[in-house]
Amino acid sequence: MDPFVDTLQRLREAFVSGRTRPAEFRAAQLKGLSRFLQENKQLLQEALAQDLHKSAFEAELSEISISQNEINLALRNLRAWMKDEKVSKNLATQLDSAFIRKEPFGLVLILSPWNYPLNLSLGPLVGALAAGNCVVLKPSEISKSTEKVLAEVLPRYLDQSCFAVVLGGPQETGRLLEHKFDYIFFTGNPQVGKIIMTAAAKHLTPITLELGGKNPCYVDDNCDPQTVANRVAFFRCFNAGQTCVAPDYVLCSPEMQARLVPALQSAITRFYGDDPQSSPNLGRIISQKHFQRLRGLLSFGRVVIGGQSDESDLYIAPTVLVDVQETDPVMQEEIFGPILPIVNVRSLGQAIDFINRREKPLALYAFSNSSQVVKRVLAQTSSGGFCGNDGFMHLTLASLPFGGVGSSGMGNYHGKFSFDTFSHHRACLLRPPGLEKIYTIRYPPHTPRNLRV
Ligand code: NAD
Repeated sequence: MDPFVDTLQRLREAFVSGRTRPAEFRAAQLKGLSRFLQENKQLLQEALAQDLHKSAFEAELSEISISQNEINLALRNLRAWMKDEKVSKNLATQLDSAFIRKEPFGLVLILSPWNYPLNLSLGPLVGALAAGNCVVLKPSEISKSTEKVLAEVLPRYLDQSCFAVVLGGPQETGRLLEHKFDYIFFTGNPQVGKIIMTAAAKHLTPITLELGGKNPCYVDDNCDPQTVANRVAFFRCFNAGQTCVAPDYVLCSPEMQARLVPALQSAITRFYGDDPQSSPNLGRIISQKHFQRLRGLLSFGRVVIGGQSDESDLYIAPTVLVDVQETDPVMQEEIFGPILPIVNVRSLGQAIDFINRREKPLALYAFSNSSQVVKRVLAQTSSGGFCGNDGFMHLTLASLPFGGVGSSGMGNYHGKFSFDTFSHHRACLLRPPGLEKIYTIRYPPHTPRNLRV
């Protein structure tokens, strides 16, 4: 017995009925999302603390406010985004009306991960609902407390004939993916991304893949080590390092490394105290499996900061590794934890070659007092996003598209980009029914006179 058939049929029927198309309906769903956030703030904070030991500050900043901002922006701009977009015309279509209509795809599937389990569910959901789709949301089964709130509370705030949350891990998701969707939006691991893309290909379903990878962080000799250390340590340790856009490793000269390591130590102590395990501001690793994986990575290179771990608490200390080789496992896989390897390069050119030898990252960071250096890194590399002289601040701008390139993903969202992602851009030409005389010139039999036009 397929557990999804009834739900999917209900949503399909709702979409075909046309009820999700009017702006009023879409706005009502967005307002429902907003009320869900406002009325359940404490419940959500508790769930995020249970799942990831997320502090109230991090929960507010990176899960609740960021989702609320997306909702507010969509509500403010909904009618403008929905408007037909007039386009320029050629000689043969001068008397016609030509425009792009943004129409909903239909039934959309959103698959979300555990690291920002609220924001990475609601962010795409805002775009999908604003664009007038029916939506199935499948949150991560690993962030269990947030999954429970999304499954039990969120649907009460939305029209349940058009929206459903389904639960499950890889096996259930595999069965869900046997069904045809009109669009799939996936956030997660690149390996799982391949499974999703293969399943989507069977139905020729268009997809967005928001994936991960190793985000390089180049630190030039010409910069203030303490400023760089504050920023790198903060963004590396945010959410205990479990952020797809976190700086994954540092590339710098041995001279800069000698100045950076004490500065990183000072930043980490200031942020989390002498015993980071007792700090309320440092998150925990999501699961035993990821804890074991991360502890394994601590044995590569030489630990110069941190290195402690406690399995009973899923705690990994903010850690810096030096003498790391390019071939070490810690330099092969996305770290996704509070561990920062430093790899030495002799020049900017060598750093750029190092970055370009690897898969295109989701984000790339360059620190330098020289804007020429930052601009050269930007010009000679490729990545989903880029930020000069800071961590992942670029993603806080809804005016910038957020997404990967190459193995870090395809497609993008945030702000209007989300609305466009979840809309089919339909090419429309409306021609007046008359004026046939003008158009007879294109019909056969063709004569030299036709060709002169
Ligand atoms: P994941 O790929 O394991 O899981 C994501 C979703 O896919 C979950 O809902 C999960 O249930 C489902 N899933 C897992 N295995 C599956 C399978 N075999 N078949 C079908 N569905 C399956 O990812 P995760 O561990 O939850 O998240 C971490 C990864 O996500 C990291 O690689 C990180 O970089 C990436 N990420 C990317 C972004 C982004 O915006 N680009 C944001 C957050 C996380």
